[in-house]
Amino acid sequence: MTNSGLQTTTIPLYLPDPHATLPQYADDEPAHDSFGRRINYLRISLTDRCNFRCVYCMPAVGTQFLPRPELLTTDELLLVVRAAAAAGFQKIRLTGGEPTLRPDLVEIVTAIKATPGITHVAMTTNALRLAKLAQPLKEAGLDRVNISIDTLDPAKFRQVTRGGKLDMVWEGIQAADQVGLHPIKLNAVVVRGLNDEEVPQLAALTLRYPWEMRFIEVMPLTGVADVAEDGVVKSEELIAQLEQIHGPLEDLGLAPTDSARRYRIPGAKGKLGFISAVSDPFCATCNRMRLTADGRLHLCLLRDNELDLRAAIRGGASQAQIEQLVRHAVAMKPWGHGLPEHVLPTLRGMSQLGG
Ligand code: SAM
Ligand code: SF4
Repeated sequence: MTNSGLQTTTIPLYLPDPHATLPQYADDEPAHDSFGRRINYLRISLTDRCNFRCVYCMPAVGTQFLPRPELLTTDELLLVVRAAAAAGFQKIRLTGGEPTLRPDLVEIVTAIKATPGITHVAMTTNALRLAKLAQPLKEAGLDRVNISIDTLDPAKFRQVTRGGKLDMVWEGIQAADQVGLHPIKLNAVVVRGLNDEEVPQLAALTLRYPWEMRFIEVMPLTGVADVAEDGVVKSEELIAQLEQIHGPLEDLGLAPTDSARRYRIPGAKGKLGFISAVSDPFCATCNRMRLTADGRLHLCLLRDNELDLRAAIRGGASQAQIEQLVRHAVAMKPWGHGLPEHVLPTLRGMSQLGG
């Protein structure tokens, strides 16, 4: 296969030379980036739409959603998954926007799970629709879920999500637990002055449930810079706050390629996780890449670099050609984000990237 036939159909957006002829990558070994990191985890945004409007994720008004023809179809999405698996990707996470808004979600999970080479399929969701979907998703082969929950106070929850109903989310969490989408991980983005006072209550869930409660430093993505600018609460501050209540936390360390440093409250059933992308970036062990709902490989969460797979697919590229493009995207992956130098992504918000 040569890449020359792809030049008119691929648009390596924001890559240094959009007209470069792609190198030919060996296709008999897993893809590594130019810094030697094995990239084997693809996070797929199934839609940019959402039934919440979390204040740290989307602006209150003005978000433009992709017209439906712009989204990858089920077949296009599954072609990318097969190509990524051929390039050595093993783990898939479905995200959004809100992935449960995608009508073909169960079908997508079934097909991804049946893809040779894919060993894990997980989903990140706000759980509003999970009470109904947990069972069919489990039967389709979904391995586990991460669920966003930023407070246990219904009024505060409505405020953070701009209208969300906490009881429905709680039912979704219980349903996921009952059908065995384990281990259940809960995500709270902590924003100073908004929900930082809720952290002890959220952490205390791990005394009762064998779940992992993870606290995420808010990131300054486009559309929410005003919330994020002064809102970051460093993980170390939260850990100190929790140690005042519970005494020293048991340090469970950082699993390789995991973004969360994990702790346990002495005697707790569950764990705590702290994701410190702002104060303590984990770029050195990054193993991931993202696929946007409109079919672009997004090379680093906090940078704008992308490579357009949809254009290649709609231009007739074969699976082998898409695999070469995936390998090229991996080779072009930046070392890390530029937050320390105040370089911020400008093109997409978190709801388009999926976290
Ligand atoms: N709608 C699903 C949900 O909320 O779980 C999936 C998409 S959401 C964009 C994925 C994750 O990104 C969630 O855990 C959410 O809390 C997190 N997130 C959203 N905006 C963020 C921000 N500005 N900084 C850090 N995490 C953010
Ligand atoms: Fe929607 Fe998730 Fe963003 Fe909240 S964090 S607005 S639930 S995509």
